[in-house]
Amino acid sequence: NPSSIYTLGQEARKALDEARESVASSLQCRPSEIVFTGSGTEADNLAIRGVAEALLPTTRPHLIASAIEHEAVLNTLKALSKREWTTTLLPVGCSGTVDPTDLEASITKETTLVSVMHANNEIGTVQPVTELATIAHSHGVLFHTDAVQTAGKYPIDVNALGIDLLSISGHKFNGPKGVGALWIRRGARLVSNLTGGGQERNRRAGTENIPAIAGLGIAARLAETKLHGE
Ligand code: PLP
Repeated sequence: NPSSIYTLGQEARKALDEARESVASSLQCRPSEIVFTGSGTEADNLAIRGVAEALLPTTRPHLIASAIEHEAVLNTLKALSKREWTTTLLPVGCSGTVDPTDLEASITKETTLVSVMHANNEIGTVQPVTELATIAHSHGVLFHTDAVQTAGKYPIDVNALGIDLLSISGHKFNGPKGVGALWIRRGARLVSNLTGGGQERNRRAGTENIPAIAGLGIAARLAETKLHGE
């Protein structure tokens, strides 16, 4: 347990810290902005539910996603649409991309978050996330991207992408199954989906799965070396 002071606990803490640094380096972000999760699905849930809940008191309960998101995003919006939130699904054209003018037209004063995936899991289309995020930001709206299909295979620099939240999953780039991560831009408001201990800077309660997280860190490091060299 990395929260323990005994020697084995400290070794676990070191493995956790190293994995966080490797994942952060592969996404070109700060280690403190990485939250480890139990899957890509959980990272998507944390991004969407976490931002939606955090901003609810400010009465902006409208969420936007593309119509071709993974179920982790689509079913999360569906579940929230049965509660306080309204949702809009943006169509895609024949090449599978979202038209930025459709996003511009769908943002209202109530919009909290836009979630459009980096690359699609069925047809591989890479979305114009930077352009879409710029539109979202011009309305003061946060932007999340599900990068489960691109992380480890496609160079990612979260700041160059100009987004606020990004999900990854270990088993899509030779890491173990049952582990993922969410990058959360420093300062972005988000509440934990789980109530419990203060792990992951209060953003994901529960004792960390160190073997899986260490595996994710190694996979991220190997992928980064393959993409960019030593
Ligand atoms: N998002 C996309 C685009 C995916 O392709 C997948 C899995 O195939 C997921 C999310 C879910 O990731 P996980 O299997 O780690 O829950």
